[in-house]
Amino acid sequence: MEERKEEKPKYPEQTLVFVERRHEYDDVYTYVFKTEEKVKYTAGQYGHVRVSGMPEGVRSVREFSFASAPHDALVEFGVDCRSGSEYQKRLQSLIIGDTVQLFKIKNHMTWPPVAREAVMIAGGVGITPFRSMLRDKAQKKMSLHTSVIHVSGSGYLYGEEVAMSADEYIQTKRERLPESISLVSDTHPTAHYYVAGSPLFVEGTLELLSEKGISAESDSFKGLEEI
Ligand SMILES: Cc1cc2nc3c(=O)[nH]c(=O)nc-3n(C[C@H](O)[C@H](O)[C@H](O)COP(=O)(O)OP(=O)(O)OC[C@H]3O[C@@H](n4cnc5c(N)ncnc54)[C@H](O)[C@@H]3O)c2cc1C
Repeated sequence: MEERKEEKPKYPEQTLVFVERRHEYDDVYTYVFKTEEKVKYTAGQYGHVRVSGMPEGVRSVREFSFASAPHDALVEFGVDCRSGSEYQKRLQSLIIGDTVQLFKIKNHMTWPPVAREAVMIAGGVGITPFRSMLRDKAQKKMSLHTSVIHVSGSGYLYGEEVAMSADEYIQTKRERLPESISLVSDTHPTAHYYVAGSPLFVEGTLELLSEKGISAESDSFKGLEEI
């Protein structure tokens, strides 16, 4: 009789144990997980998260930027679940002790090698990698001036924490973004710029920056609806 081989995952996976779901605002939640072994990642990275028990033929993996920092004891993701997809329903149904799999951790945004100033521009939950970087900066006691522009139509995820940790924090609406960018770019023209959020938000913001001769590292949250 032919022996049936277990299908091996293509990438090494790490088990995350669900600890807490914190409601932030509207349909946005922070998911908190613990692990047996510390997850190895750098601030600004994202990982792939697989949930179990999905209906046949439905995608069971989504990418999420780490909202926690590498030295934090727990792993956190800030998730916009407004699509109500099967994946989001599964996340919503997690109970304490349930597990998900984390794999393929990748880089998008990294600390600048030389710049002394960083400007981070986030659309909605696009603030997650910046929260990770700001926590990392505080934990490492890095000397870097940070300005954050946060664009949202409703709540400002991690607003209070970012206000405390960034040197400058502007909360704004989409239509006022050009104004905020002008304000910050006039005072920090040589800073290292970052943009994160939905693909349309990132595209529009990179265009606004390029009109000012500024290029940026970006993290496009493919699949995330417009804010
Ligand atoms: C690098 C990276 C980092 C990310 N980080 C985060 C993060 O930190 N937090 C976060 O919340 N998200 C993040 N995302 C987005 C996340 O991975 C998911 O794409 C997002 O949560 C949407 O998944 P979903 O299951 O809610 O919606 P999905 O079911 O995947 O739907 C995605 C889009 O397709 C549309 N759609 C779905 N099915 C159909 C259909 N049948 N017909 C027409 N339209 C359809 C939906 O309306 C929606 O606009 C990130 C993405 C990337 C690539």
